[in-house]
Amino acid sequence: MDDEEAFLSIEHVTKKFGAFTALDAVSLELRAGELVCLLGPSGCGKSTLLRCIAGLHRQDEGRIFLANREIGQLPAQQRDYGMLFQSYALFPNLTVEQNVAYGLSQRRRLAPVVHKRVREMLDLVGLGHLAQRYPSQLSGGQQQRVALARALAPSPSLLLLDEPMSALDARIREQLRIDLRNLQRKLGITTLMVTHDQEEAMMMADRIAVMDQGKIQQFARPQDLYRQPANTFVADFIGDSN
Ligand code: ADP
Ligand code: MG
Repeated sequence: MDDEEAFLSIEHVTKKFGAFTALDAVSLELRAGELVCLLGPSGCGKSTLLRCIAGLHRQDEGRIFLANREIGQLPAQQRDYGMLFQSYALFPNLTVEQNVAYGLSQRRRLAPVVHKRVREMLDLVGLGHLAQRYPSQLSGGQQQRVALARALAPSPSLLLLDEPMSALDARIREQLRIDLRNLQRKLGITTLMVTHDQEEAMMMADRIAVMDQGKIQQFARPQDLYRQPANTFVADFIGDSN
């Protein structure tokens, strides 16, 4: 790490599925408040790395630190993060408001303090007017905003996003990219976002970690990936859509 201390520190994390090595001694350090995109082709290990950080997989080797605390052996519920997936995974029989409250471990009856927090979060993602709707009455983009409000409601110190815009139409995706980026800056929340879309990574990331076959191939600012690709894989992958 340059001069700044790491907020999220992944050290030599290896994850195997049987004889197959999905993550091969991956190391990565995020500074507080930055948005890092984890970019790479399908099957290269992006989701597996995110799931190890989240405690949804246990790594075979290596350590993970968040704010100087080792979290790599903790159960998922004891790790301080919010997470978003490609599918919004909302509860269909709960209202928007109740879905967000669920992030605060409140299901149907909302205590006043919870209600206030839920309203704040819905306003933050621009959905204050849809609090009483059900997920099926919302567009995909709106549903993902609800999922985002739910993830952010407990004020996590880390945001993990796994292809959060892949299921959306181009126009909605474009708007959500902008809004998500602005929100991330405003909150100053350290964010690791998985994507296989290099244009998305270039547009959103402070730094990009390019991954292939379970290894980080290069970790650099977007412009530096163009100027000085570390190897032919990075050069080809980044150059692809130009
Ligand atoms: P990505 O998110 O980059 O598309 P993944 O991290 O989901 O890739 O998967 C990386 C590799 O690990 C793939 O080859 C995938 O088939 C394999 N893999 C992922 N999860 C499992 C699992 N639970 N069991 C066995 N193999 C898995
Ligand atoms: Mg994936």
